[in-house]
Amino acid sequence: MKLHEYQAREILAKHGVPVPQGNVARTGAEARTLAEGMGGKVVVKAQIHAGGRGKGGGVKLANTADEAERAAGQIIGMDLITPQTGPQGQKVKSVLVAEQIAIEKEFYLSVIVDSAIGWPVIIASQAGGMDIEEVAAKTPEKIIRVPLDPATGYQPHHGRLVAEALGLSGDQSKQALAVVAGTVKAFFASDASLVEVNPLVVTTDGRVLALDAKLTLDDNALFRHADLAALRDKDEEDPLEVEAGDLGISNFVKLEGNIGCVVNGAGLAMSTMDVIKYAGGEPANFLDIGTVNDPQRVVSSFKVILADPAVKAILINIFGGMARTDVIAQGVVEAMRTLEMKHPVVVRLAGTNLEEGLRILRESGLPIITADDLGEAARKAVEAANKAA
Ligand code: GDP
Ligand code: MN
Repeated sequence: MKLHEYQAREILAKHGVPVPQGNVARTGAEARTLAEGMGGKVVVKAQIHAGGRGKGGGVKLANTADEAERAAGQIIGMDLITPQTGPQGQKVKSVLVAEQIAIEKEFYLSVIVDSAIGWPVIIASQAGGMDIEEVAAKTPEKIIRVPLDPATGYQPHHGRLVAEALGLSGDQSKQALAVVAGTVKAFFASDASLVEVNPLVVTTDGRVLALDAKLTLDDNALFRHADLAALRDKDEEDPLEVEAGDLGISNFVKLEGNIGCVVNGAGLAMSTMDVIKYAGGEPANFLDIGTVNDPQRVVSSFKVILADPAVKAILINIFGGMARTDVIAQGVVEAMRTLEMKHPVVVRLAGTNLEEGLRILRESGLPIITADDLGEAARKAVEAANKAA
């Protein structure tokens, strides 16, 4: 789960990272009041769950309360398009009005889980304010990575390595140490998968501050953080994914094609995507139904898949281990009867109670297309989707 910048800033501040003073406004008038309280010289920043806002016109400097009100008026309500939003952009509901900072230098700092080594790592670079993927691709030598052994946790020498790599010395090095320590603390304390400060700045008067903040929480640990879970903003999430979550389906991913996929297990989902592409098609989404022992869950899955107007055909690919294929078959039949489906449905079942599952499909009298293996199922689904499109 992602957080807004203003929320991430509060968490950083709570763990000792200095951040510029600021507050959220939902209207131009509110932005004016906040700017007045800060002496007029502020920055007005769109609060959406995507980065690259500056490039899209979502970050504006204002020198008076008037200008702040105008900037907020322009930003609130806009469909902000950034390199991270997709072409239709993201509707802006609120802005952060923050004290305007005079910047001397911009750096990059983050803590992420590196899945390759299974450890958190601190990543830092003097090339701040820019797209870190681009820096990594073009000038990887400008990035340092400091792995954090989970057994010993954060140690001051980790921070010193970062401060040195950023070229800081004396008092600024000391400030940077506090920033790095606080950022790592915020990462662990909130069970985050990412904390990113881009840019981390040195101000013209020599302070080291987090000017931007991004924080992604590990959904699997959210149950330990009721306070953080409450910060969720469903408006920022894909509506179909929200609906799936509400129906108790945790793994639904929206994609760009036209074949809706119901599978069980993440690995099977990945191979199903591959085989569909190999057959010349494109998945519209995939829904990991998990271990099913209730046909009603299959019906709910169909509801989610059918809510996506891009879907032209549905492919069900289930390997029955703990999940029983006869229960899946009952669910498919129930869904097709109750949801008045027009879409072609291709079903490939394997594993537990297969004969019973196939019998249920066959005797339903419904136009269900069955397949014996995944390759055949994918070809049939692609063909059906192309015909329907
Ligand atoms: P992002 O584009 O979504 O990553 O948003 P940022 O918060 O990183 O802002 C983008 C850029 O706007 C920063 O890299 C800064 O160059 C600039 N910016 C943001 N806040 C301030 C500020 O207080 N003062 C100045 N001078 N520039 C700022
Ligand atoms: Mn940024």
